[in-house]
Amino acid sequence: MATRSSFRRRTQAPRPVSRVDDNVDGISCEECGSGDREDELILCDKCDKGYHLFCLRPILACVPKGDWFCPSCSNAKRLKRFPLIQTKIIDFFRIQRSTDFYQKPCQADSKKNKRRLGGLAMAKKKRKLLPFNPIDDPARRLEQMASLATALMATGTDFSDELTYVPGMAPRSANQASLEPGGMQVLCREDSKTLEHCKDMMKRGQWPPLMVVFDSCEGFTVHADRFIKDLTIITEYTGDVDYLKNREHDDGDSMMTLISAADPSNSLVICPDKRGNIARFISGINNHTPEGKKKQNLKCVRFNVDGESRVLLIAIRDISRGERLYYDYNGLEQEYPTQHFV
Ligand SMILES: [Zn+2]
Ligand SMILES: [Zn+2]
Repeated sequence: MATRSSFRRRTQAPRPVSRVDDNVDGISCEECGSGDREDELILCDKCDKGYHLFCLRPILACVPKGDWFCPSCSNAKRLKRFPLIQTKIIDFFRIQRSTDFYQKPCQADSKKNKRRLGGLAMAKKKRKLLPFNPIDDPARRLEQMASLATALMATGTDFSDELTYVPGMAPRSANQASLEPGGMQVLCREDSKTLEHCKDMMKRGQWPPLMVVFDSCEGFTVHADRFIKDLTIITEYTGDVDYLKNREHDDGDSMMTLISAADPSNSLVICPDKRGNIARFISGINNHTPEGKKKQNLKCVRFNVDGESRVLLIAIRDISRGERLYYDYNGLEQEYPTQHFV
């Protein structure tokens, strides 16, 4: 699924030749003083000092493509918080002016459906997706939105809750779910309606109960700001759609597979480097350790929606308030996702 975890080394420190030569050739990490794991040491392009990727704060997941400057050479700017001012936030996210932001979120639709289906047991059996459930308190929703605006501003990204097709990149006509070998799981009518409902809520400022939190170790992360039920739609993964072949030399830090076609020249990726939403800030698990796997609470699934591929992040269990969201960045690479949802 994701090309997110592709790891590329820009600068590799030389191997220490011998103990005697250590002082001359051995590069050690400025943070921990060790010269071990030299394949994970990167060198500053200004002062030539070494740092382990995992000793940096925030940790670097992969080596940056262009020049890299260490913390002392980069004179890193302090994180600037987006102002907690309703009009500014509404403009930033282009929330519909006509709607009353202070209106109570309406969840009537899903309740009605549940009753008709004969209660929770029935709904569970059908494994239907649930819309996210916004917090009633408008002041808290503003805080949630400001936290995302802060992260988008810091990464130089414009907000877009839709896949975007930009001239010079892949046209919308290139997004055909049928290009996927073996086909793609079709989002059923009822779930499509739920997805549309989520999109409409976003436009009205009925925000998903998510808070973007800066972690000194992991960078931007996303936390549940209220209890979230299993099978809830958290967000769609959005950004500019491009051909994978155009992006093979990108950093790939947050690129997401949209179509993995039989003919690789037709394969598409979502690139949230210029436009995107909260999805790009959700953490990936370490899928090499049992502890890492245990943290996973979301699944990333590609669906055929009206013939086009769309990527959704969906809760795979109940999530408590304050829990950090995690999914597997490369768990579905060769896997057909149906088994988890049907
Ligand atoms: Zn170190
Ligand atoms: Zn430096």
